[in-house]
This record gives sequence, structure tokens and C-alpha cells, in this order.
Amino acid sequence: MKDKELSDLTGACVKCGTCRTVCTLYPERKAEISVARGKIALLDAARKGRDDDLDAVQEALSDCLLCGRCERACPNQVLVEEIIMKGRADIADRIGISAWKQVLFGRVMPSPGKRDAARAAAAAAQKLLAKKIPTGSGLHYRFPDKYGLSGRTLPELPGKGFIASLGPDEARNGEAMLFVGCVFDHVFPQVGRAAYKSMKASGMEVAVFRDAACCGLPAMVSGDRTSALRCVEENVRRLRAAEPRRIVFPCGSCLLMFKRNLFSLIPEGHPLHAEAVWVSGRCEDYAGFILASGVVSRLPDPPEDEAAGEIGYHDPCHLSGTLGKGSEAREVLRRTVGRSFAEMEGADLCCGYGGTFNIRDYSTSARIGENKVSLAAKGGTAVIATACSGCILQMRDMAARTDPALRVVHIAELVFRALSRR
Ligand code: SF4
Ligand code: SF4
Repeated sequence: MKDKELSDLTGACVKCGTCRTVCTLYPERKAEISVARGKIALLDAARKGRDDDLDAVQEALSDCLLCGRCERACPNQVLVEEIIMKGRADIADRIGISAWKQVLFGRVMPSPGKRDAARAAAAAAQKLLAKKIPTGSGLHYRFPDKYGLSGRTLPELPGKGFIASLGPDEARNGEAMLFVGCVFDHVFPQVGRAAYKSMKASGMEVAVFRDAACCGLPAMVSGDRTSALRCVEENVRRLRAAEPRRIVFPCGSCLLMFKRNLFSLIPEGHPLHAEAVWVSGRCEDYAGFILASGVVSRLPDPPEDEAAGEIGYHDPCHLSGTLGKGSEAREVLRRTVGRSFAEMEGADLCCGYGGTFNIRDYSTSARIGENKVSLAAKGGTAVIATACSGCILQMRDMAARTDPALRVVHIAELVFRALSRR
């Protein structure tokens, strides 16, 4: 590998091994190659021509949840996530990207209309191929192993997405703009709706960003930087033109894309850099908005008969860890559900989703996730609230596997439910 930028990044690693002590994957693999230090050493060896086994490098770089625990613990501030994503892109440039990923990331994800069509097709396939099962958070579908989906439990896809259900003139203009994200638009539209309605309780006019491309994270973590760049460029141009004062994200991973990864794709010198800085500076998380805009002061007192300590908060790695936004959601929960909120066991443990990791190694992803939700349930948590779409997908699946009574919700659903009692 000859990428100078990559070698500058890996050169910061002093091989101290702190990353091994915190790596989410190390207890599963017990192998140096699974931790940041091992991956960096392999990348360096490949770059210097000592080991040009691209399959081995690809395998090592793919075997990572991108949870960022190593990066946060690293005493030398090595940008591990950036190194892994750049390494994946470097490999993809050399050996190519599969045809289905090219279509998904390059054609479907940037286009609102194509995403809608893809959801409708997936909903039809789900009805044909999967079996309906009841869970704590509503009806889900379970896929038999024979379809290669490893017995996954997936939510029942809705007939209509959140944005498609808005009236033609609804949510067109406003000083605050909701970036709902693909999952809260097409998979859990009730979360998009709850976020939108609870933001409106601030008294501000709230617009919904209808023409959004995907945030670009799925393409970026898969090494498809061309499709990721296309998504972020389209979003930056459209958001700059719409001129919202605030752009609000219910999903921590989408927010990470706009706060940090955006500048890996649109660095200084890129023609859209100034616009990207403008857009990024207006992006904020849902809980921060709910606190700062006064929505919490309009909430009714929590009902006294709710069980104490039954609602916990799961820290999404990207939101609480990388972006340092964990206290805002907790404060919103305290003000929304009162004594029902309590810190839950293992709140900051990664849920094991890791986006593409969950697809490439579901059994490991499930072991990590089952451990996470079981710890919470054993500690007395009956409802896990969180603020990231991937974490919700994963923990609902894990709850169905381990404890179907356990519910997993977005904090916006709790805020909206409380506001409805006014
Ligand atoms: S903690 Fe940082 S410096 Fe130490 S081995 Fe890991 S990546 Fe390198
Ligand atoms: S990002 Fe997470 S899974 Fe990947 S190497 Fe770092 S700690 Fe391990």
C-alpha cells in the first residue's frame, strides 16, 4: 500500500497495546490482529511491501465494529476509525466493490425515490419469506436460516415511510430542520414522527429535510468512498441552499457523519469545503435540541405509578463515545420519565452491531449483543432507550433472541408519549 495519507496516520501508533485492553472484539477473538495495533502493523507491512496478501489485510480491516473504544483510549490519539475506513477504501480501489453494493450505495442510497421503492420491495419480500412473531416492541419477522439471514429478527416494514406520510405542504419550512435518516424514515417511521412532533413542541417551525441523500456512512464504512462522497456532496449542497438555522439528528451515526467523517471526504481545498463547514456547524443531536429549545419544560410531570428504574439508556458508540453526547439524553430521560429512569448495567458497552460487521459475522455480533441486553435485563431494565438507528435494530433483534419482554425504543418516542399526556 502506498497511500501517504494512510502512512501518516498509522505512523502515530507507538505500539503500546492500550487498545487491546478496551477492544470490544478482543475477548471474542483473543488475537492481536483483531485489535487496532495488529491492524495498523499489518497495514504498515503491506504498505512497505513486506506483506502484500490483500485478502488478509481486507479480512483484518473488515473484522472491526468501528466502535471507537480503542481510539478513545489511545494515549497517542491515533485516528483508528479513519485508518480502518481509509484502509478499506484502499483495498476496495484495488480489488473492486461487489455489484450489489455498487447498486445499493451508488444508486439507491443517494436517491429518496429509489429508497422508497426499495423499502416497498423489501416489505413485499418480507411477507413472502419470513414468519411473523410477536416481541416486546411489536410484531417482527424472523427469517429462516435457509435464506442466509441466520434467523435474524427484523421489524415489520411499514407500508409507508415517515416522509412519504407527510402532507404535501407539511414541514416544508422552518428554522429547525429534521434530518430523519434512512432507518427512521423507512424502517421505524414512528421514530421519525415522534422526533418531528416533539421538536414542534418547542414552538419553532420545524422542516423535514425531504430531499436528503443517505448520510453516506454505510458506503464509507464499506470502503466505497465514491458513493459516500456523492451522498455528502448532495446533502451539503441541498442543506446550504435551504439555509436552516439548526439541523437536528435523531440518529447518532448520521450525526457523526456530518460532524466528523464529512471532513475526511470534503477536506480543505475541496470546492465544497466552506459549505460543509457551514452545514456541520448547524448540526446537533436530538436530545441536545430538546433540552436547549425548552421542550423539556413543557413536559407534564411523570406519572407517579410508573415502576422505578425500569428505563435505562444505552450509549451509542458514535454519539456518546466519539461525539461525547451522553449526558443530554440522560437529562431528557430524567425530565421525561422521572424516577423510571436509572443507569443500566453495561450502558456504555457496544451493542455489537457495527453495520457491515453484523452482516459479515452475525454469530459474533449476536454474542456481543446478547451479552449487552442480558446484562441490562438482569439489572432490572425493562425498557432500553437510545438514540441511534443501528443500535435499535440490533438490540431489538437481541431482545427477541434473549428476552422478548424487553423493549427497545428511541428517546423521542418517550418524549412524544409524555407530551401527548399534556
Ligand atoms: S493504543 Fe494507540 S498507540 Fe497504543 S497500540 Fe493502540 S493504536 Fe497504537
Ligand atoms: S474500533 Fe472497536 S472493534 Fe475495532 S479495533 Fe477498535 S475497539 Fe476493536
